[in-house]
Amino acid sequence: MSGIADRYERTIDYLRISITDRCNLRCIYCMPSNGIKPIEHKEVLSYEEIIRIVRVASCIGVRKIRLTGGEPLTRKDLPGLVSAINSIEGIEDVSLTTNGILLKQQIGELAGAGLKRINISLDSMKPERYAEITRGGRLEAVWEGIKEAEAAGISPIKINMVPIRGFNEDEIADFARLTLKFPYHIRFIEFMPIGAKEIWSEAKYIPTEEIKNMVSEVAPIYSVKARKSGPARYFRFENAPGVIGFISAVTHHFCNTCNRLRLTSDGKLRPCLFSETEIDLRSAIRDGADDHEIERMLKLAVEIKPEGHQISHERSFNHLKPMSKIGG
Ligand code: SAM
Ligand code: SF4
Repeated sequence: MSGIADRYERTIDYLRISITDRCNLRCIYCMPSNGIKPIEHKEVLSYEEIIRIVRVASCIGVRKIRLTGGEPLTRKDLPGLVSAINSIEGIEDVSLTTNGILLKQQIGELAGAGLKRINISLDSMKPERYAEITRGGRLEAVWEGIKEAEAAGISPIKINMVPIRGFNEDEIADFARLTLKFPYHIRFIEFMPIGAKEIWSEAKYIPTEEIKNMVSEVAPIYSVKARKSGPARYFRFENAPGVIGFISAVTHHFCNTCNRLRLTSDGKLRPCLFSETEIDLRSAIRDGADDHEIERMLKLAVEIKPEGHQISHERSFNHLKPMSKIGG
């Protein structure tokens, strides 16, 4: 069995797991300048607890797992977790979302453990600006990680960029041009009104249509039919080895095809990124819940998954948990 149908006939077969809320960067749009008080270690799910949840999830048809955070590469022995999840019957795909800073050192072992796909967040290709956006990140380390990932056979390499007016929109064309040389998937993600309130303003938000127009000024783009594209809509320049994706998290809901549940680093099941509704799996597990009870809670999360979200850039900032805590 692959996936379990929810009330709106979506097949839920994907679990995104935040394995830590801690991060080695503090991107201006994700975290406030003074950081976020981290969750205490004892409150974070252990690898054993995560593996158990994935095992039960696989029994109700979950096939794909994405590990994220915070920065997942800051947690100890990630290859061990990847390998354990990979060997669970029914799990077909384990992937990772990372800022790439520690990728060079870890990608060899991760690939050996069965990791096949990664998404790397990169919002500028200018070293000084990158350091400014990430509050101290070293761009060179990310490129070294990307090259090492290619050498390790990771494919495709997806690079996620969040265009923000006044910060990096002048680099949209350069990011798109990367696809003329490399087989990367360059994905532009709309800036969402969650995370660091001090940075958000409606004026800084750039809708997908505008981003797409800037890309089209480089050269005409053609729609690409992807078998499984998730929330992204893909295009390419003529004869380009890479593709360009647009993720309209704010303007066009991708809710009608949303196939995922989320698990926060402190063990809360979240049916939707933009809803504060959570199911406390960690407390249940630590109070002695058996696998049937975990299964019941997973099914409940599917059952109460909302039809869609109501966030909009015209509305004010959303005081949802930041992405680093939920798992972006
Ligand atoms: N640290 C890893 C990384 O940066 O890839 C994984 C976690 S991070 C929270 C996941 C993604 O969330 C990143 O691609 C980041 O750009 C995105 N993100 C965080 N806050 C956002 C916001 N307000 N709007 C759009 N994307 C956001
Ligand atoms: Fe860290 Fe990722 Fe948030 Fe940047 S976007 S602060 S790398 S969790």
